[in-house]
Amino acid sequence: MRATTASLVRWLDAWAEDPKDAERDPRAIDWLRTLPFLAIHLGCLFALVVGWSWTALAVCAGFYALRMFAITAFYHRYFSHRSFQTSRFMQFLFALLGSTAVQRGPLWWAAHHRAHHQHADSEGDTHSPREGFWWSHVGWVLANGNFRTRMDLVPDLMRFPELRFLDRFDSVIPLLLIPALFALGELLHGLAPELGTNGWQMVVYGFCISTVLLYHLTFSINSVAHRFGSRRFETNDQSRNNAVLALLTFGEGWHNNHHRSPASTRQGLRWWEVDMSWYLLRTMGALGLVWNFKSRPSRSVDG
Ligand SMILES: [Zn+2]
Ligand SMILES: [Zn+2]
Repeated sequence: MRATTASLVRWLDAWAEDPKDAERDPRAIDWLRTLPFLAIHLGCLFALVVGWSWTALAVCAGFYALRMFAITAFYHRYFSHRSFQTSRFMQFLFALLGSTAVQRGPLWWAAHHRAHHQHADSEGDTHSPREGFWWSHVGWVLANGNFRTRMDLVPDLMRFPELRFLDRFDSVIPLLLIPALFALGELLHGLAPELGTNGWQMVVYGFCISTVLLYHLTFSINSVAHRFGSRRFETNDQSRNNAVLALLTFGEGWHNNHHRSPASTRQGLRWWEVDMSWYLLRTMGALGLVWNFKSRPSRSVDG
């Protein structure tokens, strides 16, 4: 009973302590805590009920793009690697946008990712495909042992109370997002019925389908991009460059380049290595919103 209560409390308060944690198998899945994650997947099936419209598809794609940028440029390149600098307001804004992707809070995400780089594809890596493709893709996210935010790995980010709040109450923003999308759909239904959308369609496409695509393409960097693709650099891990993934994940698919120079803001090295997050960050840099990009060590293109 206490375990059930702890799982339910953690739906809302991700930092809630549970003394039973030490007794749990760190690789086992806490199915009760995982129910919301499964529910988002099941929600996609309601596309068969609510029908579709170009408006719903556009919101699905647009919201995917916005959140993919928040995850790749900020959760990854900024919070995890500190590869550029920005103002405290922009830091908060993109932490907030990132948290709409329902990939936990910025501190949890950055801490686990820093651990990945410390131990990539060796003992201690949280999500190496050496321990199974499924584990590296999604098993590790759902496992008991990886639920806690590893605060010792992100002392630089722990200084900010607004980031601690977003991390501790990581479901609050997604829970506000769902009624907001529903209201948007109903508003459009009332104001412009010719668009053919409504509240539930907006929730299914704008939230469920968009979020599930975002999940599995982000997760693919940990699974697919450590298995399939080419290796320009002989790094101490199995990271690969994968052009298809790079296009879909705004540049993260140049993962072998990234493991070679993790602190570099830019991940596509050649002109043809499309790196959408880098282009957008450079545009933000021109507008004075971000600055001090770190570059790769010289000659690293050729190894
Ligand atoms: Zn990696
Ligand atoms: Zn990284």
